[in-house]
Amino acid sequence: MVKVLHHNNINEEVLHSKKIAIIGYGSQGHAHALNLKESGFDVVVGLRGGKSWDKAVEDGVDVCSVAEATAAADIIMVLLPDEHQPKVYEESIKPHLQPGNALVFAHGFNIHFSQIVPPADVDVFLVAPKGPGHLVRRTYTEGAGVPALYAVYQDYSGQARELALAYAKGIGSARAGVLETTFQEETETDLFGEQAVLCGGATSLIKAGFETLVEAGYQPEVAYFECLHELKLIVDLLYEGGLSNMRYSISDTAQWGDFVSGPRVVNEDTKARMKDILKDIQTGVFAKGWILENQANRPQFNAINRNENNHLIEQVGRELRALMPFIKKPVNEKKEVVVN
Ligand code: NDP
Ligand code: MG
Ligand code: MG
Repeated sequence: MVKVLHHNNINEEVLHSKKIAIIGYGSQGHAHALNLKESGFDVVVGLRGGKSWDKAVEDGVDVCSVAEATAAADIIMVLLPDEHQPKVYEESIKPHLQPGNALVFAHGFNIHFSQIVPPADVDVFLVAPKGPGHLVRRTYTEGAGVPALYAVYQDYSGQARELALAYAKGIGSARAGVLETTFQEETETDLFGEQAVLCGGATSLIKAGFETLVEAGYQPEVAYFECLHELKLIVDLLYEGGLSNMRYSISDTAQWGDFVSGPRVVNEDTKARMKDILKDIQTGVFAKGWILENQANRPQFNAINRNENNHLIEQVGRELRALMPFIKKPVNEKKEVVVN
């Protein structure tokens, strides 16, 4: 097993003499800025004027432009959406980087796929929490943390590894566990996980199950509860104690069905497709497609997103969740859903 570092194995002293700029105040940005501030570090947030700016001011953190924050800080953590990072880096970060600064990321995409090429005289490392930003924040306030990976790409100061660990401790991740990786491993496994299992795999499995029941004449509302709603209870059990813990809690009938039918749904064929997906990630085919899609103003992304929002499972789900006000309103339902 690799060495997983915890709170007490990490000395964060090296970071106390540094000023940290958090660029962006979205999902990860607000969590890193607030957690680091409450851990006693010197934090400034770099933004353009707008929604995030107002929120950061409301939260009581120091805010200025991306250029000013970069110029003022020693450690520059880039927490903008990955697809916006290269342009903001060129225009507002690169001109203000000083030798010996640290350029930091929460995901390796832009460095690994050469969308950002940093100068040789700065440290480059990543600290990637393995969970969404709102959990990075919530667990911190509860005295816990979200585990994180760290990796050093370029060690100019000789302190890059120490700084990365101190940063991970500052955002609370060392309370859960911090382990070393490389930019390549973090980037490729992160993309694979979200595509094949966590996001793409899960949504496609849910939709296929829902459609199978509805096409067989069952009520969409019943299919929704069975294929989407109940998944949360199962995932909570998996999170708390792995496969065996989940299987311990379900009925023996469900467990027998799991054993005999699960491998009929996800089988060698599925795994062969997963290997194709991994290959597209490793060879840069996926990255190139996504970069070009953004350059073209996302025609395909937007079209698919519109169709997905109109899927029957989404229509039924919106109606059913409205009857369950105790379910926290998700971020995407606070906005108008575009239907056309
Ligand atoms: P978000 O989309 O939540 O953050 C967007 C932030 O960037 C907003 O504050 C936005 O401000 C700001 N922003 C966007 N464009 C610009 C610009 N041109 N100039 C200045 N500010 C801008 O990003 P995430 O937190 O999801 O992702 C940040 C990084 O963290 C990525 O590298 C991602 O891969 C990584 N990561 C994300 C995880 C997650 O849970 N989301 C998990 C682990 C890693 P405004 O309000 O003005 O638009
Ligand atoms: Mg990701
Ligand atoms: Mg059941």
